[in-house]
Amino acid sequence: MESIQDRENKLRQIKDEVVVCKKCSLYKTRRLPVIGKGNHQANIVFVGEAPGFQEDRTGRPFCGSAGKVLDYLLMGIGIKREDIYITNILKCRPPGNRDPKEEEIRACAPYLERQIEIIKPNIICSLGRFSMAFLMKKFGFEKEITSISNLHGKVFKSKEGIILIPFYHPAVAVYNPKMKEYLKKDFQVLKKFLF
Ligand code: URA
Ligand code: SF4
Repeated sequence: MESIQDRENKLRQIKDEVVVCKKCSLYKTRRLPVIGKGNHQANIVFVGEAPGFQEDRTGRPFCGSAGKVLDYLLMGIGIKREDIYITNILKCRPPGNRDPKEEEIRACAPYLERQIEIIKPNIICSLGRFSMAFLMKKFGFEKEITSISNLHGKVFKSKEGIILIPFYHPAVAVYNPKMKEYLKKDFQVLKKFLF
């Protein structure tokens, strides 16, 4: 039986690797990597895209304006940040918040895969199209990948029994009340799985 201490050690190991990682060029321009934060025993893991301006300065995921939207959405279904684990596909900020490149995702995603393997969540929520595409591919739904406007709020159950729910990225709702409503509605899908 794996102890809580084993889990802590494995997650710490990832952190130790990420802080010195040079597997893609993003290490050159980032200030702090953002490894992930939250409950290491969480049942639910949220996967965003990459650190933004504020995250790069603090090392904490979703601490800027997108994070405010995320907090609002979580609060709406009675989830606290301490209940879940939040991370990103890329651990370092792309300059100017540009989209992640394919080779950066390829280089960095093994850290996310290990985080998922260690935490063993029952539910994974992707935020945005890049984490959606990566996770759908990983969990056997490659053929079903279309645009996020088709797939947001849908439920995919993998053969391993993991429930994957793709959401729009909360950043799209920062200045767009309509998108915020879509996100709120999609979070009701997640709410059904809470107990
Ligand atoms: N956007 C993301 O995708 N992740 C963060 O941590 C912050 C903003
Ligand atoms: Fe390493 Fe990921 Fe940072 Fe690239 S983004 S340097 S792969 S930790």
